[in-house]
Amino acid sequence: MIERIIPLIYIGAAGSFILALKWLSAIPTARRGVIVGAAGMALAVIGTLLKPEIESYRWIAVAFVAGTAIGIPMAMMPMTAVPQRTALSHAFGALAAALVGTAEYYLRAPAIGRFTMAALALEVLLGFLTFTASLMAFGKLQEILPQRPITFRFQNSLNLSLLGLAAAAGATLVFRPETSWLFPVFGALALAFGVLLIIPIGGADMPTVISLLNSYAGLAAAAMGFVLDNQLLIIAGALDGSSGLILSVIMCRAMNRSFTNVLFGAFGQIQAAGGTGQERRAVRSASPEDAAGILLAAERVIVVPGYGMAVAQAQHKVRELYDALTKAGVDVKFAIHPVAGRMPGHMNVLLAEADIPYDRLVEMEEVNSDFPQAGAALVIGANDVTNPAARHDRNSPIYGMPILDVDKARTVLVIKRSMNPGFAGIDNELYYSDRTLMVFGDAKTVVGNIVRELAGGRDTV
Ligand code: NDP
Repeated sequence: MIERIIPLIYIGAAGSFILALKWLSAIPTARRGVIVGAAGMALAVIGTLLKPEIESYRWIAVAFVAGTAIGIPMAMMPMTAVPQRTALSHAFGALAAALVGTAEYYLRAPAIGRFTMAALALEVLLGFLTFTASLMAFGKLQEILPQRPITFRFQNSLNLSLLGLAAAAGATLVFRPETSWLFPVFGALALAFGVLLIIPIGGADMPTVISLLNSYAGLAAAAMGFVLDNQLLIIAGALDGSSGLILSVIMCRAMNRSFTNVLFGAFGQIQAAGGTGQERRAVRSASPEDAAGILLAAERVIVVPGYGMAVAQAQHKVRELYDALTKAGVDVKFAIHPVAGRMPGHMNVLLAEADIPYDRLVEMEEVNSDFPQAGAALVIGANDVTNPAARHDRNSPIYGMPILDVDKARTVLVIKRSMNPGFAGIDNELYYSDRTLMVFGDAKTVVGNIVRELAGGRDTV
C-alpha cells in the first residue's frame, strides 16, 4: 500500500517544484512560489520517510534536529547576506550528495554496475568540488577571505590538470571499482579543485559563480537520484541544475561578459579608481534642499537604485520619498537594471521589502524610452549600470553592457558618498555631464534629508 502512495507523493512534490519555479520568476507571484516550493520539499521529505526500507528513525531524528538548529539561524541572516547564505546552503547540499555517494561506494563496491558507478563518480566529483567552492564563495562574500582575485603563473593549467586527474581517477573507478585506495584520492582531488577554482575569482563575481555552483549541486543531486534509483531526486536535481545554469547565463549576458571571463578572467583586479584621470574634472554638486526642489518641479521622476542603496539600507527612506513625491502629484517610477546590486533581483527584493508597489518597478528595456520625457532621474547608489561609456567606449571594460539611459533625462541627480568607482572599477562619465548634479553623502541620510525638505523641515538638513 505504502509503496503505491509514495510515487503519488513524489509526483505532487515534483509538480510543486515546477510550479514554484514558474511563480518565482515574477514579482507578484514570487511569495506563492516560495510557499509552494517549501510545501513540495515537505512532501518529498514525508514521502522518503515513509519508505519501508528505513529500519530506524533514530539517526534521522538526530540529523533533523541538527539541520533545524543550523537552518533557523541561517534563515535569519539579513537580506543583504542572501548571496552568502545561498552559498552555504549549496555547500551543505553538495556535501550531502558527496557523502551519500561515498557511503554507497563503500556499501556496494566492487559489485557495482558501470552506469551506477559513473553516476556515483559524477555525484562525488561535483558534490565535493561544489562543497569547497561554495565555502570559499561564502568566505569571500562574508569577507572572511580576501575579496580580490588571487592569481599566480600557470594557474589555469594547474587547475585544468587537477580536474583532468580527478576525471581520470573517476574513470578508473568506473572500469575498476575494486580499486578502493583510489576513492579517497579522487575525493581529495575534487575538494582541492573546488578551492582552486574560486581563488582567482573576485568577490564581486561571486553571485554569478554561486548560481553556477547551484547548477553543479543540482547535477550532483540528479546523479545521486540515478545511484539511489530515486526519480524525485533526478527531477529536482535537473530542475535545480538547469535553473542555476540559466540564471548564470542571464547574469553574464546582462554584464556582457562570458562564462570564461567570469571564471578565469580575474575580474575586479583592476581597481582603476578614476585611473583615466577624469576624477580631476569638475563636477557640479547640490544639496538635499536643491534636490527636493528639482524633484518637485520635475513632474516625472525615474528613480534608479543600485548597490549603494543596498549598502545604506536606504529602501525604507526611498519609500518615504516615493510617498512624499506621489502626494505632491509627481509621477514616480523605479528603473530596474538586471544586474544592479550584487545579486539577481537585488533591487526588486529591497523595494518589495519597503512595500513599493510592484507596478512602479519598470524593467530596463521598457523604462529606457521614458528617460527623455523624465524631468529628473534620481540615481541612488547606482554607478556602472548608468555609465554611458558602455554604449560607445570600445576600450571600456563594460563596453557593450546594456545600461539605463539615465543621461537622457532633463536633470540627473546622483546620490553617492564620493567619486569612487563601482564594481567595474572605472570612472562614470555621467557625473561630468552638464545635466548632472552630485548629492554627496550616505544614501539613507541624503534621501532622509530630501524627504524632510519635501515635508518642509528645512532647518533639519
Ligand atoms: P556599482 O557597484 O557600480 O556602484 C555602487 C555605487 O554605490 C558606488 O559607486 C558607491 O560609491 C555607491 N555607494 C556605496 N555605498 C554607498 C552608500 N552607503 N550610500 C550611497 N552610495 C553608496 O553598483 P551598480 O548597482 O550600479 O552596478 C552593479 C555592478 O555589479 C555592475 O557592474 C554589475 O555587473 C556587477 N555585478 C552585479 C551582479 C548582480 O547579480 N546584480 C553580480 C555580479 C556583479 P561611493 O563609494 O562613492 O559611495
